[in-house]
Amino acid sequence: MYCSVILRGAIRQTDNLYTYRVPEELRADTHAGSLVSVPFGKGDSKKTAVVVNVIEEFNGDARYIKDIDSLLSQTPVLNPDQLELIEKVSERLNCTRGDVVELMVPSCVVNHRNPIEQFAELVSRDKAEEVLQSEKLRSAAHINILEYLLERGKCTRKELMSSVSCSSAQINSLERKGLIRLVKEVSDNEVPQLAISSDIPEGKFTEEYDLSDEQQDAVNEILKGIDSRKDNTYLLFGITGSGKTEVYLNIAKKVISEGGSVIYMVPEISLTPQTINWIKGRLGDSVAVLHSRLTDKQRYEQWNNIRTGKARVVVGPRSGVFAPAKDLRLIILDEEHDGSYKAESHPRYSARDIARMRAKITGCSVVLGSATPSVESFYAAQAGAYKLLELKNRARSEATLPEIIPVDMKEQIKLGSGDMLSLPLRQAMSVAFSENKQVILLLNRRGFSRTLVCEDCGEPVTCKNCSVAMTLHNNRRNGTQSLICHYCGYTVPSYEARCSFCSGNRFKKAGFGTQQLEEFLHSVFPHEKVLRMDQDSTMTPGAHKEIIEKFAAKEASILIGTQMIAKGLDFPDVTVVGVLGADLMLASSSFKASERAFQLITQAAGRAGRGEHPGKVFIQSFRPEQPLLQFACTQNYRAFYEQEIEYRQKLKLPPYKALGEIVLSLADEELLIKRANEVASYLNAFLGFQDPKYQFEIYGPMPCVIYELRGRYRMSFVIKAVNKSAINGVFKRLIADFDHMKYPMSFDNDPQDG
Ligand code: ADP
Ligand code: ZN
Repeated sequence: MYCSVILRGAIRQTDNLYTYRVPEELRADTHAGSLVSVPFGKGDSKKTAVVVNVIEEFNGDARYIKDIDSLLSQTPVLNPDQLELIEKVSERLNCTRGDVVELMVPSCVVNHRNPIEQFAELVSRDKAEEVLQSEKLRSAAHINILEYLLERGKCTRKELMSSVSCSSAQINSLERKGLIRLVKEVSDNEVPQLAISSDIPEGKFTEEYDLSDEQQDAVNEILKGIDSRKDNTYLLFGITGSGKTEVYLNIAKKVISEGGSVIYMVPEISLTPQTINWIKGRLGDSVAVLHSRLTDKQRYEQWNNIRTGKARVVVGPRSGVFAPAKDLRLIILDEEHDGSYKAESHPRYSARDIARMRAKITGCSVVLGSATPSVESFYAAQAGAYKLLELKNRARSEATLPEIIPVDMKEQIKLGSGDMLSLPLRQAMSVAFSENKQVILLLNRRGFSRTLVCEDCGEPVTCKNCSVAMTLHNNRRNGTQSLICHYCGYTVPSYEARCSFCSGNRFKKAGFGTQQLEEFLHSVFPHEKVLRMDQDSTMTPGAHKEIIEKFAAKEASILIGTQMIAKGLDFPDVTVVGVLGADLMLASSSFKASERAFQLITQAAGRAGRGEHPGKVFIQSFRPEQPLLQFACTQNYRAFYEQEIEYRQKLKLPPYKALGEIVLSLADEELLIKRANEVASYLNAFLGFQDPKYQFEIYGPMPCVIYELRGRYRMSFVIKAVNKSAINGVFKRLIADFDHMKYPMSFDNDPQDG
């Protein structure tokens, strides 16, 4: 018997199917999907691999075929549908099959070993019988041991000691006489399983509701789709507080009651104890949770419960999409627009894409839920590729939408209130504190640290071709500074830059930080306690959870933070939310800047007035009249979408065209520039010969937004084309024609951030 394997984590040179012989004793347990250890290469170094198929006969020359070393798990670690997915994902992401195996078989599984025990067995039955008959043995214990082994065969040392009541020394002495053999092996005992039902919370978490008509319609529609087994994708578009979670829980419950499995993904940051308790409270002991704070052992236990089918619901972040769910019938992506569903390191997968690919293979349904869908998803729903389901009302009739109030910071600065907290916001905060209520202040700092804003009007400098913010680049070789568009490479020396809004020519670095804000708050509200949640304050594991718990327990009245706090948290006593520096969200160098800003404001607004108390949301901006902020203030997603989709069409951005990004990085800057130019001439020559139907456009080389990273300099190219497979075609040529050691390139066919 033989098998073909894929090496886990294979590099391109070793990403082949390799054939191994399956030794006699492993045949019964070796199947497609088994995890094995194999000798590989000249030195026979041990590699971890997954069996993709098993064959009885081998047609080639079998002399050079090596044996599998051992099985690393008693039962297969991958289901047939996952094996089928490997090829498709590696094709889609331009990564090796071994990379995909690594995503599906996390290291906790490879590192896991069943408890190893020592077994005793006879060296030879004949010899044992002969010794017994000859009556040479004087120790009764020795005689008992041999008789026991003759009768029962191999058994563990422990069993032997308790059954014949002998000592360890007596067993060892028989081994020295050459009559028995002691071997270490994996015991058959099943891994002790974590009682996943042990900590199910009571009370509000288990409460069920009568669904509203809208919710019921959505549930019915999705259940119909699940029954049809036709890989339907639904976009559940429902305003914040419309009860989307209730829809997910109802459909999930139905699926598990029929013996199917569910993958239920939430953004990393929303994977809080609150969320987990809610889901566990309702779906009970069939829930397994995968999140980054688990130890290897806990993670293995959760993963193993999923694989054995003991757990029917997998709750996790984006990596959950690769979980070995049995009889998968439903994949949910809550907050489908969230950036954390896209991996930002190799392989750069998007959980949404993988979910759709798994659906095609298994016939399961995919539910994407959001109050502010990604433009790409809403477009797909408009085009009929996804089915649109809408929830237009808040689920709890008493919950009112918060009042959203735009504040003009130009006026505020004139009034002398500075650029951090406007007067109306300050007053509302005072009122909230006097009523023992809480305040959240949101300050998004992501992605604009390298952009400049106009000193007069607060606007970022934008590219004349692409209308995204340009990024500041220090040219260290001649000491100059320039502003560069990350999409088309358009460059302006910084002294020539003009504000595209008011033509001003004085610029400053944008914004202030959370620490500065915290200090300012201490001076304005000296009696209020402040909690700060940002990258610095959440470095240590568990810090994030601790801050949330403190705020929920009302140990502080103000929570300030970055986009982290805008998501999924439910604090009933928050009545005021301030979004500070709303313009800065638009000053990011990504084509998704507007989309992100709209999503963030909507989410922030969803934090206010979740309890019985109506909430107020203040949006501080230098240009509150701009349409995007107006749409955000009136929570008009469709108006936002119409404006945004027009911009995307005009500039040939997704969903109208596919984008690809190539990043070349080297430690030697001179060499980087030389090689980037070589890649550029290759690309220009190659694309020049392509059929116009692919609509290729190429930009670059240009310095990356983050030019220096971990001791390397980075240059990028941007390609636009009619679709992703055209982009992938270019990537494949580059992979084939350039030596990866000399030209280390990374490829992304779905870049999200500049
Ligand atoms: P979303 O995820 O759409 O923002 P949630 O699922 O958080 O909304 O629901 C908002 C609130 O409404 C929650 O407190 C939830 O318990 C409650 N809720 C949901 N459905 C119903 C219902 N049918 N009747 C009463 N309350 C509901
Ligand atoms: Zn541009």
